[in-house]
Amino acid sequence: MDTKAFKRSLNSSENYHRKGFGHDAEVADTMQSEYQSNLIQEIREQAYTLKRGDVTIRLAQAFGFCWGVERAVAMAYETRQHFPTERIWITNEIIHNPSVNQRLREMNVLFTPVVAGQKDFSEVAKGDVVILPAFGASVQEMQLLNDRGCTIVDTTCPWVSKVWNTVEKHKKGDYTSIIHGKYNHEETVATSSFAGKYLIVLNLAEAQYVADYILNGGDREEFLTKFKKATSAGFDPDRDLVQIGIANQTTMLKGETEQIGKLFEHTMLKKYPPNELNQHFLSFNTICDATQERQDAMFDLVKEKLDMMIVIGGYNSSNTTHLQEIAIDYKIPSYHIDSVERIVSRDRIEHKPLHKDLEIAEHWLPEGEIVVGITSGASTPDKVVADIIERIFELKAAVPA
Ligand code: SF4
Repeated sequence: MDTKAFKRSLNSSENYHRKGFGHDAEVADTMQSEYQSNLIQEIREQAYTLKRGDVTIRLAQAFGFCWGVERAVAMAYETRQHFPTERIWITNEIIHNPSVNQRLREMNVLFTPVVAGQKDFSEVAKGDVVILPAFGASVQEMQLLNDRGCTIVDTTCPWVSKVWNTVEKHKKGDYTSIIHGKYNHEETVATSSFAGKYLIVLNLAEAQYVADYILNGGDREEFLTKFKKATSAGFDPDRDLVQIGIANQTTMLKGETEQIGKLFEHTMLKKYPPNELNQHFLSFNTICDATQERQDAMFDLVKEKLDMMIVIGGYNSSNTTHLQEIAIDYKIPSYHIDSVERIVSRDRIEHKPLHKDLEIAEHWLPEGEIVVGITSGASTPDKVVADIIERIFELKAAVPA
């Protein structure tokens, strides 16, 4: 498919909306009351610190709702106002946060079901309104919805669209896009749908494997098996790694994305004469500022003396998981939770250890004076963070039974 031509025709369609509908002021008030918190404001004003009783809270200096997420949620609210009687769908979670998604359900916004790992659009009918989430949707989904005669409200974050433009450029120059991301994350699925030839690498180790293959060759079958789910159809490592361009899932660890970019640049410099670098390698500048700021703030926070970290965000939120990885790297006891309900009691917390299923930790809240570091992913409203902080204060203030 000529994805560029399709996007161009979609942009000019009257059934396609990429901006709000002029209800911003009302929506801003609603969002303020539903998602903001006076407690968080107070902590911000006190240099991101608050002490109550035995508990000192140290809040990361950048955390929570990013610009792109706030914009997407506001557009979803506006859509409900603008189409009060139409059936409204979201092709997936609008963002990776359970409380926001629950709020949309209460507003009678439907979520397309997922059957055997695939989104099922069979119920979506002509005239329905369909909201595409902040991390985007694949070009095939957009085409299906457009062909079906739906009204599309596209909340894709402009930072994500910027990555799509990057892979379009790769395609035009016949470069293979090497995407640093998770092959099954919605954003990367969408990005790869705009790419021509592509290869998705999860981390530096996989990138190193590919770089070694470029320099020294290797076992082609092993390569294809290893990246079975992470390459474009018909990908051939012997043919398709001569010209490469870098792209990224915007929520990956920024430092790792940069290292991967450098690794491939050096690889191509070793493989080809320096004056031919541009023919073999295209750099990128699509690391999202919000992801970068939250990770930098986390790196600052973990240098302090903390008794524990609470990392708040949806369990399928990539950027939240990366914040948790930083806490683990710094060997700080940390709990990734998505809502205050996960704090069962002073002695029990239900949390998600990295790459594992939910589990209960006992005696998680130390006795005596404690310093608790707090951060949250880009999809988490302040209100959720405030509820968790209040709960910690309350549990520590209570006399143990
Ligand atoms: S994390 Fe960045 S790319 Fe993702 S929605 Fe937020 S601003 Fe956009």
